[in-house]
Amino acid sequence: MQRTRVRLIVWCLAASVVAGCAGERPRAANDGLEVVASFYPVWEAASRIGGDEATVHNLTPAGVEPHDLELTADALDRIIEADVVLYLGQGFQPVVEEAVDRATGATVDLLDGLELHDPTDDGHADEEGHESEAADPHVWLDPRTWAQVVGRIERVLADAVSDAEASAIHERASAYGDTIAELDGAFAEGLDDCASDTIVTSHAAFGYLAERYGLEQVAISGLSPEAEPSPKRLAEIADLVERERITTIFSETLVSPRVAETLAREADVKTAVLDPIEGLTVDQIDARRDYVGVMRDNLRVLQEALQCR
Ligand code: ZN
Repeated sequence: MQRTRVRLIVWCLAASVVAGCAGERPRAANDGLEVVASFYPVWEAASRIGGDEATVHNLTPAGVEPHDLELTADALDRIIEADVVLYLGQGFQPVVEEAVDRATGATVDLLDGLELHDPTDDGHADEEGHESEAADPHVWLDPRTWAQVVGRIERVLADAVSDAEASAIHERASAYGDTIAELDGAFAEGLDDCASDTIVTSHAAFGYLAERYGLEQVAISGLSPEAEPSPKRLAEIADLVERERITTIFSETLVSPRVAETLAREADVKTAVLDPIEGLTVDQIDARRDYVGVMRDNLRVLQEALQCR
């Protein structure tokens, strides 16, 4: 018996060079679920909810802006081999949307089934009047819409594991949902009574947040940060800043603040970081920041800029 087992292992070692013995074995229950998340907020939610039952890989490296993500060969392999791939569609990360066609596990577009904003609500046409057909993907910046996405991640992960593992997943999802509900309460209360309601943002990431809490977003560039603003757009914003007595122009962590700083200097107003949490910087990771922590920073920055009581 013992000898047979040893022989089998030796055979496997030899065979793995050619074909991969382990690869042909069905996944044991305690192997854990292999999950791929396309960028930071999805990674955080899936990691918190998945706990010990899942290993979650983030496709977007720290400090990289996810809109213009490019996939390494290893990242593509992870997508192909994962049990579950969680991503956002609507052209948010086109390379991921293309790669999921080759995935062998479950693939879930977390924007499916949500009530999405039309791009013209938040973005603006570029110089030639082009505007993308895709809807606004920035749902994670409104805690209540994000809670719906978290619920979807919970169901997807729970469906992929045993009943005992699923109950642990539901427990963690419920705790995370409570934290997000508290965050929503803090935003609703904190932005209830403000002198101004207009936010000038770097790219149009805050449309869902603005709508939820009664603010108006004016974005320097469109739904994607790569879109360069035209001189006409910059002049319009400069006028608006003066007319509306706006105190602050917001920049981001993963996109150059050059345009926001130039605008602010010319209009003689401040700049502050309003973080779209499209990814954490290395410094934020070192400081153990997370979605709720950065969102609370965002709330404080908004309250100061909008002079809320
Ligand atoms: Zn964005």
